[in-house]
Amino acid sequence: MNSTGSSSPQGTGRFRAAGFVLGFAAVGLTLAYSAFAQQTGGAPTPPPTSRPTTQPGKFAPPGTPLTETKPLPAFWKSSLDDIDQCLTQAHKGKVELLCRSAGGRKLYVVSYGPPRNLDSQANYNSACGGGNPAWYVHKPAGTPPTVLLLGPVHGQEVEGIAGLMNLLHLVETGADLRGKSYPKLMESFLRCRVLIVPSGNPDGRSRVPLNGFIGESIDTNSYYGMGTNAAGKLWQWPQVKGHQPLTDVGYLGGYFNDAGVNLMHDDWFGRMTSETQAILDLAKREAIDYGVSLHSHGANPQFMQTDYMDPGCQEKAIVISERLSQRFAAVNERVNPIRREAPAAPAPANNNRPRRHRPEAPAAFNLCSALHHVSGGTIVLYENSCGVTGYHQTTYDQILDLQMVLFEELLGYAADNPVVWER
Ligand SMILES: [Zn+2]
Repeated sequence: MNSTGSSSPQGTGRFRAAGFVLGFAAVGLTLAYSAFAQQTGGAPTPPPTSRPTTQPGKFAPPGTPLTETKPLPAFWKSSLDDIDQCLTQAHKGKVELLCRSAGGRKLYVVSYGPPRNLDSQANYNSACGGGNPAWYVHKPAGTPPTVLLLGPVHGQEVEGIAGLMNLLHLVETGADLRGKSYPKLMESFLRCRVLIVPSGNPDGRSRVPLNGFIGESIDTNSYYGMGTNAAGKLWQWPQVKGHQPLTDVGYLGGYFNDAGVNLMHDDWFGRMTSETQAILDLAKREAIDYGVSLHSHGANPQFMQTDYMDPGCQEKAIVISERLSQRFAAVNERVNPIRREAPAAPAPANNNRPRRHRPEAPAAFNLCSALHHVSGGTIVLYENSCGVTGYHQTTYDQILDLQMVLFEELLGYAADNPVVWER
């Protein structure tokens, strides 16, 4: 469930008028950049202010399964053990340990395609300040694009891991874990440099004993996602975002790393936790052209706008989401593309803005925003449907099918529209 504020199980979206948010971003970034620049070496992870409880079952709602009880298809690989096993078989890709999480777990990236000669002489921010992003990275015409596929930073959103496990199997063997081949996807894949982070939050994932949520209740999903407070009450969106890091904890959900940090909303211009610092460092050093952050919620699949992103990148994100909504419609799956909205327009009802406590509140500068501002890349956020009862009904095959379409379209768009920055 997302990030930017809309983690309601019903699945809502968000959108902000470009003129306002860019103005806000410009002021905020100018003031904060000097502090941020001092962080590029990677600040130590701040210690949690209280030790969260990680004991599964504490304050669990009645009926919450504490181990896997429903059969899962053989192709559905979404655990940390599945990732470890998959990475031992990744021979075509280069496996790299990006960092240790706050809880000491390993966060990996698997890269495919030759690394680029980045020839960097400034960070992206400074290069843009001088009016030429090529000073950050020289990307002459013909340079293959780099695409980041970021696995779930919310540990209970296991669907993205299963998608990436199948993609890795496809790339390594020629078929996904169901035995399906994807010639068009592979053609685009080979035209890009691709960075795959199977799990963005191994701490959170380790706390979730279930590997899939189809047929489970929304309370079970919320329990393993947002957890409970010390009194045993389920945390809910949006109140759970009123605490960062989360310290009022009875059972710590998979939303958070072991320091209680929701990685979507780290302290970008202060002291970041190790996972977010490592993910941003990766995007910066690779100068990603495009990226997707994989999430999940109970509603139908959805794309979310990245706020505080350059308007040119916003337009590309909209086009990608519109193409995908057409592809999804062809398999009878409804998905909401990112909406076009005139700058400074008031928020219309029933669009894909999130429900907010205060409609006038500024948009959040989240992980997707930060990824854009270290790399210049176009970042989209995709919400899988997780299939909890009472919400959007889906199957594991369909969840995977849609992600393979997502990968195919995103990589195809990137291959056809690489960023070109000439000096
Ligand atoms: Zn999420």
